[in-house]
Amino acid sequence: MKSLLLIHTGGTLSMEAKKSGGLVAKELTNILDHIVPEINNIANITHKQLFQIDSSHINISHIQKIAQTLFEERLNYDGFVITHGTDTMAYTASALSFMLRNFGKPIILTGAQRPLYKPRTDAKINLIDAVTTATLSNYNEIAIVFDSTIYRGVRSSKYKINEYDAFRSYNMAPIGKLGVEIEFYNNAKYIKKKKILFKYYPKLNSNIFVFKVFPGIEFSNFNFIKKPNAIILEAFGAGNLDATDNLVRYIKKNEEIPVIIYSQVNKGKVNLNLYESGVILKSLGAIGSGNMTFEALIFKTMHLLSYSSNKKAILRNITKNLVGELDN
Ligand code: ASP
Repeated sequence: MKSLLLIHTGGTLSMEAKKSGGLVAKELTNILDHIVPEINNIANITHKQLFQIDSSHINISHIQKIAQTLFEERLNYDGFVITHGTDTMAYTASALSFMLRNFGKPIILTGAQRPLYKPRTDAKINLIDAVTTATLSNYNEIAIVFDSTIYRGVRSSKYKINEYDAFRSYNMAPIGKLGVEIEFYNNAKYIKKKKILFKYYPKLNSNIFVFKVFPGIEFSNFNFIKKPNAIILEAFGAGNLDATDNLVRYIKKNEEIPVIIYSQVNKGKVNLNLYESGVILKSLGAIGSGNMTFEALIFKTMHLLSYSSNKKAILRNITKNLVGELDN
């Protein structure tokens, strides 16, 4: 039997109602053997409770703690499952994808929309599916397993609040499905185990400013208290916005800050060559984020800010597929 480390971080899966109101995350280490004993028939399981939080409270040091644990335990287990809240699961999956390159073993994130102790919970099946996926011999990605579907972590986003199929991979088909049989889709090239050197990148520079535009936005009110190391503009459609005013003056004045254009539309690719609006942004030195998810873009930018020597290298790498995060 394969050996798995289950790293618990909180989220609805582990939550119980508090008397004063609202769900709070609980420790899982000692209860899973009683509530979901089936997982012990699938693998030799060790539990590690890193923290128990609502994942909307996750910060960079929590993510670094998860990454550091995976780095330290990498050689001790065949695979890893992380229980995590759904709110930021796609962010953590994306972060880990850039931090733990060519990890060579499956890292599967899962959680639930209804807590473990509640009737009709999805926690048990999600956990069983995640443990099963982490034991598959020819699969070694960082993935989200949810609602019996395997998604590449760095391509995933949470898209439903109230339904069991909480995740989606807008610009890439899911990797597979855990139905009566486990079925992998046409992504065989991603499934193969690659023998590439493992590398750990623990640093994340989160000094990024994200600006979501809307019709009527007043860039004239716009001011930074602290100078960011990168600016992400969440534009319309193919990457368009009315690049006038104060913001442009700021971008021109601070030429050293990389400016990346993301789109408010989830499906498709940013294209700064299509409209004059995009061409103007491009002439200011901005670059499009391709068809990356917002979660992937945020952590790719943090990662590149920490490990690239200059703005040119950051912008070049934004458009390059580093860990399967975009098509190019
Ligand atoms: N707020 C919860 C969390 O992200 C939501 C969930 O787990 O579904 O921790």
